[in-house]
Amino acid sequence: MPETTAAAPYTRTNPFPGKLVVNRSLCGEGSDKDTRHFEIDLKGWGLNYEVGDSMTVWPTNDPALADEIIKTLGAKGDEPVKSPSRETTLREALLRDCRITQTTPKFLKAVAERANAAPLLTDLLKPERKQDLDTYLWGMEVIDFLIEHPSIKWTPQEFVEVLAKLQPRLYSISSSLKARPDQVHFTIDVVHYESRGRMRKGVCSTFLAERAEEVSVPVFPNTSKFRLPEDGNTPIIMVGPGTGVAPFRAFLQERKAVGAKGKNWLFFGSQKSACNYFYREEFEEYQSDGFLTRRDLAWSRDQEKKVYVQDLMMQNAAEIWKWLEEGGQFFVCGDARRMAKDVDAALRKIIQQEGGRSEDATNEFVEKLKSDKRYKRDVY
Ligand SMILES: Cc1cc2nc3c(=O)[nH]c(=O)nc-3n(C[C@H](O)[C@H](O)[C@H](O)COP(=O)(O)OP(=O)(O)OC[C@H]3O[C@@H](n4cnc5c(N)ncnc54)[C@H](O)[C@@H]3O)c2cc1C
Repeated sequence: MPETTAAAPYTRTNPFPGKLVVNRSLCGEGSDKDTRHFEIDLKGWGLNYEVGDSMTVWPTNDPALADEIIKTLGAKGDEPVKSPSRETTLREALLRDCRITQTTPKFLKAVAERANAAPLLTDLLKPERKQDLDTYLWGMEVIDFLIEHPSIKWTPQEFVEVLAKLQPRLYSISSSLKARPDQVHFTIDVVHYESRGRMRKGVCSTFLAERAEEVSVPVFPNTSKFRLPEDGNTPIIMVGPGTGVAPFRAFLQERKAVGAKGKNWLFFGSQKSACNYFYREEFEEYQSDGFLTRRDLAWSRDQEKKVYVQDLMMQNAAEIWKWLEEGGQFFVCGDARRMAKDVDAALRKIIQQEGGRSEDATNEFVEKLKSDKRYKRDVY
């Protein structure tokens, strides 16, 4: 029976129960970040995914937070409710079915209507104050409103109905099946932050970091267009600071496993070289045996002046242009808000400067790179 047939019963909404087998820090002492490497065993699935794909992970909420909500509601947890997906108990709905951290407009409206003393919230819910509402809500969660308005009485069913459905999270796959059969690896920044005197936790990243060892990790692949060139001789330039390095670790594993001869150039960056150099040994080994042709590293906090991957691109403008002229492909992965925009601007500057093109001709060149699938982005 072909392997793909075995994968058939599993879907995004009926995911495969993976098993977390490795949960290890990628950061050293002194790191402000908590970035982790996870390995999930997929034995028994017969799954085929491609490097460049991401994986859907269905988390379970933090039981301590669910229990605090139940207590604050004055409930016991075993009350029957109809959750967004099934008939269950209040506790189960809060653990598996509902989003219990960030609020919804429905929840905020219900609070404003029921609380006698919420004029601020009522005002902020006016459409013209959307931006002020977002600022007010930054770092505020459902539990804060429950604590702030103890006079509001909710039945378990009413409460569940004002929450949104818990959504899965996507993670770039950081391994190749050719190198690590029956496994999927992730490179994840664990979200922790403090606001209003409380420690907050990202739902899925802390599910994996703190609570997934004893339970299954429901996963399903998400097909992407972020693909290696079919021709293994094509040079590739990979820009992946922080967790953006994930798919490039997978690309390198894959190219190594199939014996691809094309040149490989990795731009990586993070805060401090001493504690944030993820997968250092692997990349050093690849470079020392000549497989990783170039590796340029940007550390924003090692010196007074911050250095980012786009700065290193500019320092290597002529060489990047040469690789592009040789038919190279350009990949970017990671932060969409700033990094991907700065890298895009640097790429355009390089094309303009080194290729001697006008701004319009540069934009045309970039559009052509994209339509020829030579400029690919996986940003979030
Ligand atoms: C295609 C794709 C690929 C991805 N690949 C990766 C990957 O390889 N590695 C990776 O780590 N992530 C990746 N992500 C992001 C990932 O899907 C999650 O969004 C991320 O892990 C956070 O999820 P969470 O459930 O832990 O946090 P959530 O529970 O979703 O919490 C995050 C939210 O907390 C709030 N928040 C966070 N920090 C603060 C703060 N300081 N103050 C106030 N509020 C704050 C914000 O509202 C933020 O949106 C990817 C996303 C996409 C779309």
